[in-house]
Amino acid sequence: MDKQYILAIDHGTTSTRAILFDHECNMVDIVQKEGKVEYPKSGWVEQDALAVWLDILYVIAGIINKSGIKPDQVAAIGISNQRETSVLWDKKTGLPIGKAIVWQSRQTSEICDRWKEEGLEEMVRQKTGLRIDPYFSASKIAWMLENIEGAREKAENGDLMFGTMDSWIVWNLSGEERHITDVSNASRTLLCNIETLEWDDELLEAFHIPKTILPEIVPTSFNYGTTAPYHFFGSRIPICSMVGDQQAALFGQLCLEKGMVKNTYGTGGFLLMNTGDKIVRSKNGLLSTVAWKIGDHVTYALEGSIFVSGSIMKWMRDELQLFDDVKVTSQMANNAKAQDDLFIVPAFVGLGAPYWDDKAKASIVGLTLGSNRNQIVKAGIESMAYQAKDVMDAMEKDSNLKISKLKVDGGATSNDYLLQFQANLCQCALERFKVTELTALGAAFLAGLAIGYWKLENLKIEIDQTFEPNKKKEEMDLHFENWHRAIASCQAFKPVQVEG
Ligand code: ADP
Repeated sequence: MDKQYILAIDHGTTSTRAILFDHECNMVDIVQKEGKVEYPKSGWVEQDALAVWLDILYVIAGIINKSGIKPDQVAAIGISNQRETSVLWDKKTGLPIGKAIVWQSRQTSEICDRWKEEGLEEMVRQKTGLRIDPYFSASKIAWMLENIEGAREKAENGDLMFGTMDSWIVWNLSGEERHITDVSNASRTLLCNIETLEWDDELLEAFHIPKTILPEIVPTSFNYGTTAPYHFFGSRIPICSMVGDQQAALFGQLCLEKGMVKNTYGTGGFLLMNTGDKIVRSKNGLLSTVAWKIGDHVTYALEGSIFVSGSIMKWMRDELQLFDDVKVTSQMANNAKAQDDLFIVPAFVGLGAPYWDDKAKASIVGLTLGSNRNQIVKAGIESMAYQAKDVMDAMEKDSNLKISKLKVDGGATSNDYLLQFQANLCQCALERFKVTELTALGAAFLAGLAIGYWKLENLKIEIDQTFEPNKKKEEMDLHFENWHRAIASCQAFKPVQVEG
């Protein structure tokens, strides 16, 4: 029999990847396609769901072509995806009825304010482990039902389907056979009760969202069905995992035991702690979420979500043209003459954990005539680390555990300056792994487990480099205090609306 592989499809906010893994957990081949993100108005972030589906087809065809394997050498497919991003589509035509609203979008801020005024916050927190915020899917769905012409009518006639990107991808990939979402994705919608793992009727009623549009909630690792042959070169390949990207990275990092923590530096930043079979309720601005469900066993996590992490560098490249390639930024930061009171607070779409200020605007504070591009780049990189430290502190308080080691992944972890600065700031060791695509690996692991391709004891990842602190805590604490002053000044800026 020909060698078998697991294919992970990792649909991120900025790009979609198809990655083949072999039985030894090695990355065999990868095909990547940049996606398009649209910013039609201040604070709005949208994507074309059809374009996302085309990207999926592109990377599937690309990986088969590039690797030279036969389609039926794929033993199973695992899918990891950007979470919360929501789309509604017509059941009959399969076409989206509007743009997908991306997780970062603040366009539903008014709906959230309304729900808060109605006093729904405590119920939402209790049932979902989340908070009322435009970040989660519910207000995005409500917005589309309210603002897209004919949407509510379609929904009431049973002609409308909702999905986060996992549902959308599997619906299409299965040839419109399966309308499903896994628990890790469902737990980010603000509609799923994280104790029962079912859609919650009381929440649906409060948000005026009809249950008929929702997908069926399924486990994270499970043989859900197969690809439609016409989407996979004649083969019916089992689709065996669907998992939110951050939970996928937690699994890919093999944070399988209670208390283990990972941080991902991608478009956003996401620190997750495995809390075992227990829901830990945060008192410090974090979220309680479902990590995964395998068989009947549910694992939970505590999460700190940072809206802008690596994407600060993309902004500096594309909008400020401070450099052509993010690869040079670590060296630029090393070359920067010390200017320790220059800070960038990247609140481009408000602030997430632990501040949750959806009205905050980004700012650069501490500029002098001597400030140059290296220093601004350095401040941008450091902003990723400061935000992560804020979340780590909250996590230590909530869990009563000291985090002594942080496993890291995501695009920005190729930046050595960032990881060394983070190790110093948090005074703990950071581990970076040889396989950098840990989100995809997590989805592959979960898919491989579902069909017995791997057993838990076969799963392994190798450390690439460990970063140990090499600066004193006292010094780093002073920088951290200044960061909080920068945050306070950013939050204090509330401009009046100028008409015309
Ligand atoms: P996602 O999965 O969210 O699409 P990735 O994990 O691929 O994101 O990370 C991409 C992000 O990482 C981009 O926003 C990019 O600006 C940032 N990034 C990539 N390489 C570097 C680097 N060397 N230094 C700093 N940031 C980087």
